[in-house]
Amino acid sequence: MDDLKFCYKCETAKERAEFNKKTRSKDGLQDECKTCKNVFRVAYYKKHSDKERIACKAWQDAHPDKSAAIGGKSLAIKRGGSASDIYDIELCIPFYAEARRLSRETGIPHHVDHIIPIAKGGLHCQTNLQVITATENIKKGDSYVCQT
Ligand SMILES: [Zn+2]
Repeated sequence: MDDLKFCYKCETAKERAEFNKKTRSKDGLQDECKTCKNVFRVAYYKKHSDKERIACKAWQDAHPDKSAAIGGKSLAIKRGGSASDIYDIELCIPFYAEARRLSRETGIPHHVDHIIPIAKGGLHCQTNLQVITATENIKKGDSYVCQT
């Protein structure tokens, strides 16, 4: 049966079609079958993405304010808003840092709010942000609050 090839991984003889090509090998095929290759790839991918997730989490833990600022922007965009031309993450970070600090120190959850709500066409940028308590934020809802 010379059209069967032995896969050293699953230790099964399989059709040659079950193996990927590998030009530099003796028989022109890889040593492990497609199924084994896939299992390996899935495992590798999973391990890899876990690693990335852990690295990402570590980065977030090390940069909580910046990661909150990034999260705030993507949330605003997800809600149909957009970032202003003058948006500068470095200038937005202090709002998120302040909200986190106030939440921590007062025990009252604070939010970074859009002065002109996203739903009212407000843009996501440092000049349209303010720190208010979660209760105020919920009470405010989508209503326009003039800050002047
Ligand atoms: Zn195999």
